[in-house]
Amino acid sequence: MNVVTACAICRNPSTVRVHPGCQERLTDNLAALPALYRQLAEHLAPSRRGDSGRTGSRTAPLPVNERVLDLRARGGIEGVVTTWERAAREDLGWDEPPFRGDIQQTVDGAVAFLLAQVPWFCDSHDAVDELAHDVRRLRAECGAIIGGEKPPRRIPVACPCGTVLRVTLDTPGIRCGGCETQYGHAEVFQLPMAERSAA
Ligand SMILES: [Zn+2]
Ligand SMILES: [Zn+2]
Repeated sequence: MNVVTACAICRNPSTVRVHPGCQERLTDNLAALPALYRQLAEHLAPSRRGDSGRTGSRTAPLPVNERVLDLRARGGIEGVVTTWERAAREDLGWDEPPFRGDIQQTVDGAVAFLLAQVPWFCDSHDAVDELAHDVRRLRAECGAIIGGEKPPRRIPVACPCGTVLRVTLDTPGIRCGGCETQYGHAEVFQLPMAERSAA
């Protein structure tokens, strides 16, 4: 029998160090960052949607979206991913990251590095939950600015084993990371809703 402990990312019961689903989500969020970085460039000026009926502002200069500037600057998205890359390289006893070029290229390179190391982070890094949190927060923030590409809402349902599963309405099914039960789409929605937990 497998020993049930807590997932190092979501803290729900788990027989493995990190739920496969939590690892997948981390990979997914990381992989989204380079494209989000590019898309942010189109959002440096605040959206004018909804202003079409106004006439007085036509000549006023549009303020630059400061938050987008920050996210695209050195120390923004770049700062988060390179900080994690440096920490990982230090733990692994590897050389410092190579010079990769401009900020965009640095983001691409650091994300590629981190993606390759996701299994290592999940198997052994003490702060994998912080990495997951940083990456999720960045993706959510970029998504909120870019709009229209928000991840679908996830509904928490409770497996009888105590694990909370977060599912989307169109989920094809899910495997419980706690007890390894495989649920089909219809079965998922027969599970009781989980109480709101501190997410
Ligand atoms: Zn988990
Ligand atoms: Zn379960």
